[in-house]
Amino acid sequence: MTLLGKLLAGNERFIAGETTAKNTAELQASLVGGQSPFAAILCCADSRIAPEIVFDQSLGELFVCRVAGNIPTPEIVESIEYAVGHLGTTLIVVMGHSSCGAVTAALQSEFVDGLFAQVALAPTRDLDDCIAHNAEHGINAILARSPMIEDAVKNGVVQIVAGVQDIASGRFELVAQTQLG
Ligand SMILES: [Zn+2]
Repeated sequence: MTLLGKLLAGNERFIAGETTAKNTAELQASLVGGQSPFAAILCCADSRIAPEIVFDQSLGELFVCRVAGNIPTPEIVESIEYAVGHLGTTLIVVMGHSSCGAVTAALQSEFVDGLFAQVALAPTRDLDDCIAHNAEHGINAILARSPMIEDAVKNGVVQIVAGVQDIASGRFELVAQTQLG
């Protein structure tokens, strides 16, 4: 199973109410010496979103970077670079979500600078379209801001995917992905 398949299988377990992640004392003890998370997740700070829960993964498996609107800011991209360069993470996920307040704010106001000005709005200006578009745009923003990650993606070593989680169902739907080599 691919790493993306592993992540999506966890989402299926969560939706089915058949989660298996267990954060035991043994697991915690085994993580003292280091970590090798298989995926780095860029997601919104929204309290209704929790990657470890909706992807049914235990401690040590996801390197989660959060900021309102899941914007790949320089700090976020540097954090993801750390995961790729130092922890061996090869899957990057840009995770938008339904009813995103940050995208809604960007749609309703004309931010000229700051974080919310970086939300990528879809030409239709429909909220769901904008949420999906902003997540997909995150792939390009990461590639543009990180030559190191761009090289790894070009070489087929690292994959970046973008998707949207529906808050009501918990389902994570992919909207775009780079190809693995
Ligand atoms: Zn949000």
